[in-house]
Amino acid sequence: MLNSGVLVLNRAFFPVHITSVRRAFCLLYAGLARAINSRYEMFDFQSWSELSIHTSEEAIGLVGRMIRVPRVVVLTAYDRVPRRNVRFCRRNIFGRDRNTCQYCGKAFPTNELNLDHVIPRSRGGKTTWENIVCSCIACNKRKGGELPEQKGMRLIRRPARPQWAPQFAFSPRTSIRQEWLPFLSLVDFTYWNLELEH
Ligand SMILES: [Zn+2]
Repeated sequence: MLNSGVLVLNRAFFPVHITSVRRAFCLLYAGLARAINSRYEMFDFQSWSELSIHTSEEAIGLVGRMIRVPRVVVLTAYDRVPRRNVRFCRRNIFGRDRNTCQYCGKAFPTNELNLDHVIPRSRGGKTTWENIVCSCIACNKRKGGELPEQKGMRLIRRPARPQWAPQFAFSPRTSIRQEWLPFLSLVDFTYWNLELEH
């Protein structure tokens, strides 16, 4: 139980990683995180430990009483998440490019953007941070299989590997808990987080 998973959200309620119940209690106790119940209410350690426990709920004995096991906690500060290598996946490419077509500079909803190889694959272009950008459907069509210069197109920004902390991604072995679902958009989770082939 102490080692089972707890979903950690950042202050913006984005999932950042999974920790253990043990560590979640430490964060909670230290005031670095708040527990969230199924009604999205937040609790500090004190108020959480005072919650009554229904028979259907998991609880553990701690500081002399039974305390509900939190399954989702939210960090009270942004900077508690260690930086790791930013995962090369669709979600992060869209994030880097802020859902903006890198040719015409307009922002689009996700489903109206493609990933474009700046140097087309047919010309040896690689699938890398430096050669993949978001592109709207119109710009994508216009560019076709050519180099941007050949179509009089210019990138608004040179694509590079981002420096920010990565979006959360599950390892394939993670068993996803019911309580996490409201915080994960699982519809296209695999699609968005799948590591792209280099
Ligand atoms: Zn465009």
